[in-house]
Amino acid sequence: MNNYKTDTICVQGGYTPGNGEPRQIPIVQSTTFKYATSEDMGKLFDLEASGYFYTRLQNPTNDYVAAKIAQLEGGTAAMLTSSGQAANFYALFNIANCGDHLVCSSSIYGGTFNLISVTMAKMGIETTFVGPDCTEEELNAAFRPNTKAVFGETIANPALTVLDIELFAKVAHAHGVPLIIDNTFATPVNCRPIEWGADIVTHSTTKYMDGHGVAVGGCIVDGGNFDWMAHADKFPGLCTPDDSYHGITYAEKFGKEGAFITKCTAQLMRDFGSIQSPQHAFYLNLGLESLHVRMPRHCENGQAVAEYLNAHPKVASVTYCGLPGDKYYEVGQKYLPNGSCGVVSFELKGGRDAANTFMKALKLAAIETHVADARTCCLNPASSTHRQMTDEQLAAAGIPAGMIRLSCGLENKADLIADLEQALEQI
Ligand SMILES: *Cc1c(COP(=O)(O)O)cnc(C)c1O
Repeated sequence: MNNYKTDTICVQGGYTPGNGEPRQIPIVQSTTFKYATSEDMGKLFDLEASGYFYTRLQNPTNDYVAAKIAQLEGGTAAMLTSSGQAANFYALFNIANCGDHLVCSSSIYGGTFNLISVTMAKMGIETTFVGPDCTEEELNAAFRPNTKAVFGETIANPALTVLDIELFAKVAHAHGVPLIIDNTFATPVNCRPIEWGADIVTHSTTKYMDGHGVAVGGCIVDGGNFDWMAHADKFPGLCTPDDSYHGITYAEKFGKEGAFITKCTAQLMRDFGSIQSPQHAFYLNLGLESLHVRMPRHCENGQAVAEYLNAHPKVASVTYCGLPGDKYYEVGQKYLPNGSCGVVSFELKGGRDAANTFMKALKLAAIETHVADARTCCLNPASSTHRQMTDEQLAAAGIPAGMIRLSCGLENKADLIADLEQALEQI
């Protein structure tokens, strides 16, 4: 499958039925799996044989869908998680423990910011935040001897900054640590971070991958390129025996291609149990089957709406990297030549009050804590998803209090623009 184009992988990747087997991926609705002998099962527990024994760790339906996403991202291994939050937590905690340090772009999803700056800080993991367009020198200065990973988002939610993935990868690698990229908004249809040097890619599959607003989920993909053993002193969890797993050394036994996801499954999924349900994985796969058809339409609508808003006298500013003159236009052209996503951010001249009047008047665009859905929706991040952030943190993340995040769905763009027009008249 890896030789096929993205479109074909979206439709047929991850699962190839044998003779007489179901054409669509089967939902393996079973918590457990049967074996003939204790010895057979013992081999699974020792990671001597691959197979299933309990759905808290692994389930065939999930693995078909994870394999499709791995193929889409050009990775070597992947796992599904119950949410995007779980995916980012696992990806980071798989290599950073108490006493360790992370370098992170300040322009990230509010939930991830909270996870890293509050909850993981309580676990003894410190983070230095850097601006998404910091210089190489500034990025270098953020590292400490105990830094274990660099984290950022291809297109940040909701600030819509575009990360210079190549630069972040280069600096991360110079310090002997991997770059983890949350590729939720771009999806592998519009950007494949591993090709630009990223080592681990995460997703909130809740967004475009599902695309229909039906199932919360996440995914972690390993690019299989990071040489853990070359930095064994930094990553003892991967490069020394795991006493909780019969003394296995993941990087030795599973190599660059498999160590990260195997450890993440065998330790973190075993202990935290944030598995995606097989039913949700099935829904996710239905979404993936049309991802390559939907993304261009989301982008077409996003571009048309961004251009319309940009020319409107009541609009103070529009953020969309497809607009010439946008701060991220050039970097967007490099990493997202076929379009970015359907999410457009803009600020009305009347600030927070105008934003709320405007949003109330919209008929097609519903106010929702959601993005990347087939149905257009909108949100004022400062009064919802990002309300835990101080004004200074909001400013650092590029989210003014009066900003509206509009997620353009798959409707007709003329209808979307007419809806915006009548709502703008109400202000
Ligand atoms: C939504 C989102 C998350 C969190 O994902 P959930 O599925 O809601 O847990 C993480 N990163 C980004 C970029 C997101 O948009």
